[in-house]
Amino acid sequence: MTKLDHLADRLQRELPELELRQGETMSRHTTFRVGGPAALMALPRNEEELLGAAQAARDGGIAPLLVGNGSNLLVDDQGVDAFVIKTAPGVSRVEAAGNTLRAGAGISLAQLAVQAAKWSLTGLEFAHGIPGSLGGAVVMNAGAYGGEMCQVIVQVRAMDAQGRVRELTGQDCTFSYRHSLFSRGDWLVLEAVVKLAPGDPAVIRARMEELMARRKEKQPLEYPSAGSTFKRPQGHFAAALIEQCGLKGLRVGGAQVSEKHAGFIINTGGATCRDILTLMDQVRERVFRETGVELEPEVKYVR
Ligand SMILES: Cc1cc2nc3c(=O)[nH]c(=O)nc-3n(C[C@H](O)[C@H](O)[C@H](O)COP(=O)(O)OP(=O)(O)OC[C@H]3O[C@@H](n4cnc5c(N)ncnc54)[C@H](O)[C@@H]3O)c2cc1C
Repeated sequence: MTKLDHLADRLQRELPELELRQGETMSRHTTFRVGGPAALMALPRNEEELLGAAQAARDGGIAPLLVGNGSNLLVDDQGVDAFVIKTAPGVSRVEAAGNTLRAGAGISLAQLAVQAAKWSLTGLEFAHGIPGSLGGAVVMNAGAYGGEMCQVIVQVRAMDAQGRVRELTGQDCTFSYRHSLFSRGDWLVLEAVVKLAPGDPAVIRARMEELMARRKEKQPLEYPSAGSTFKRPQGHFAAALIEQCGLKGLRVGGAQVSEKHAGFIINTGGATCRDILTLMDQVRERVFRETGVELEPEVKYVR
């Protein structure tokens, strides 16, 4: 029996309600719609199941692959011989206290922003159109339209690499551009507290709608993707550099540099992870050769 078989056995015994899937294709769990099977996947519905799954993995010497909404992930065609713990949409309890919201890692940013508007709280409008979970957004310090998670996160509860559950302040999270303390991958974000301000729900909703309309106009939301493929290089915009090199529309198999927004690689149908990686390499190589700027992937490749 493999370590993962032992883990599956233990989880079935100790957490009989926990949903486990074997050989689940990861393309169903990534917004790129690519990725082969995961050896074992747990889909906890609450924090108790999430912690139980993570503790059992630790005890078995297994480092789980944590997935939120899979909107920043590029999973290999061969899949992952790993234990995947998927927090979204299960771990999504949310509660308000004054101007703060405390929510589980698996809640979608869209749902959290809508909830904030219902409770007349402003500050999360920027996050409404980012298709990630709260946990993934904390890890990535996701941001858009001048807002970033680090501006609103005041507390994070997370399990560290030693299996201890810890309360961290926003400052402890050492947020920087698309990066945080959790980016190394050995922490599990359980929940986060965002601090907002009182606002008018109608104004908040109008702002969310305005930003969504801007996204629809500028971004190829009609195709599967993982958003911006590359990080913004210091002093430049990745999309502008890619466009300047004449790479809009460049294709490898089913993967294409979007005609609508050169910063996005899209899956036009049937793209493989290999297609996307090859296209990313071609784009990086051409941009470096022609502009001297090195593009760094924002999407996380896992295998
Ligand atoms: C159409 C589109 C538009 C986008 N627009 C934006 C944008 O405007 N701004 C922006 O910043 N991003 C954007 N993104 C990228 C993506 O939505 C964000 O990076 C988001 O924060 C990822 O969240 P997720 O839950 O999908 O994380 P995932 O993709 O599932 O995971 C991302 C990383 O976080 C880790 N992780 C996930 N959950 C946890 C957890 N609970 N504990 C520990 N580690 C965890 C994963 O292991 C992985 O390393 C866009 C993506 C798409 C598809």
